[in-house]
Amino acid sequence: PPHRTLSHPEALEALRSFLKERSSYDVFPVSFRLIVLDTQLKVKKALDVMLLYGVVSAPLWNTSTAKFAGMFTVQDVIHLIQYYYHTSSWEGATADVEQFRLHSIRDIEKALSVPPPPLLSVHPLRPLYDACRYLIRTHARRLPLIDRDTQTGGEVVISVLTQYRVLKFIAMNCRDITQYLTASVQEMGIGSYVSPESNPDPTNNPNKYYPLATATMQTTVFDVVHMFSELGISAVPIVDNDGKVLNLYETVDVITLVRNGAYQSLDLTISQALKQRAVDFPGVVTCSPRDSLSAIFSLIKIRRVHRLVVVQGRDDPNPGRFVGIISLSDIMRALIGNDIPLGGAGVGAEVVDKAL
Ligand code: ADP
Repeated sequence: PPHRTLSHPEALEALRSFLKERSSYDVFPVSFRLIVLDTQLKVKKALDVMLLYGVVSAPLWNTSTAKFAGMFTVQDVIHLIQYYYHTSSWEGATADVEQFRLHSIRDIEKALSVPPPPLLSVHPLRPLYDACRYLIRTHARRLPLIDRDTQTGGEVVISVLTQYRVLKFIAMNCRDITQYLTASVQEMGIGSYVSPESNPDPTNNPNKYYPLATATMQTTVFDVVHMFSELGISAVPIVDNDGKVLNLYETVDVITLVRNGAYQSLDLTISQALKQRAVDFPGVVTCSPRDSLSAIFSLIKIRRVHRLVVVQGRDDPNPGRFVGIISLSDIMRALIGNDIPLGGAGVGAEVVDKAL
C-alpha cells in the first residue's frame, strides 16, 4: 500500500517502534564467528589473534569463574600506551606492554583514573530498543549479548552488538522511514561542532566540547594518543593552517602501529604514520552541516561509516573547512533520545539488567 508521508518526529517515532519490535538476534546473520579472549592471555598474543581475525575488540572470558569479564577494546590499548609513557622507560614499556596479561588492564585504568569499562551486557532476546539505550550509555561503544546455558545455567557470550551494526541494520531495512528524516544534522544538534555559535545544540548534550580536538600533519602520534585517552574520543581530524580537513587519525590506526611491534613509532609525525596505513583504507567520510539524517543513512547503507567529519559545503565561503564531527553515538542518541534514566556507568551487568 502507498505509504503516507511522515513528519520528522513521526519518522523518529516509527523508527523507535521498529527497534522495539526487533531483538538483537535480528541484527546478526544466521551464522557468524565470535572471537573470545581468555583473561590469562598476554596483550601481545591478544593483539596477534585480533589481527589474524580482523577484529578490533573482543569479549573477555575468565576461565576460573566461568564468567564474562568485560570487553577488550582499542581504547584499552590506548590507555595502556598512555600509562607506560608516564611510568616507565620507553624500552621498558615496549617489553612490558607485550608481557602484560589482559586481566591486569583494569588496574591500569584505575591508576589512570579513567572511567572503568562497563561490564554492561544484555540478553540477545531483549528488544533492540533497550539494547540501544545501553549502547549509548556505555563508553565501550559495544554491548556483549549474553545468554545462559539451559543445562548448566552458565553464561554464554553470543555476540557483540555495535553502534555500527544497529545503524547499518536500520539503513538496510527502514528506507521507508529514514527518507522522512529531513531535518539537517546541525538543526537537530547531532554531532559536536567547532564553536557554540555554529551549533546552538538544542539537546544541551554535556559531552560536547569546544573547541574540538584537531591535529596537523606535524603533530606526533603520541600527542594524538594523549587526546584519545584524555578526551575519550576515537578520532581526531587532521587540518592544515586554514582549517581545511586533510585527513582523520583514528584509534584503530594506532593499533596498526602497535601491532607491528613498533612502539617507537609513536614518535612519528601524523604525516609519517599515515603512510603506514593499509592501501585499502576506505577514506574519510565527510558531510555538510546542512545534510539531512536521511542522507546520512543513505551513506551508512552503502559505506562502512564509523564517523563523519563535517566540513563547509561547496557553496559555503570556505569549502572543506572543518566544522564538526558526527560519531555513531551522536546519531544513536538522536534516534533513541537521552531522557530515560538508567543505572550509572560502570554498574555491574546484573544490577543494570534488573533496571530495564
Ligand atoms: P563514538 O562514541 O561513536 O565511538 P567518539 O568517541 O569519536 O565516537 O566520540 C564521542 C563524543 O565526542 C561524540 O559526542 C563526538 O561528537 C565527540 N567527538 C568526537 N571526536 C571529537 C574531537 N576530535 N574533538 C572533540 N569531540 C569529539
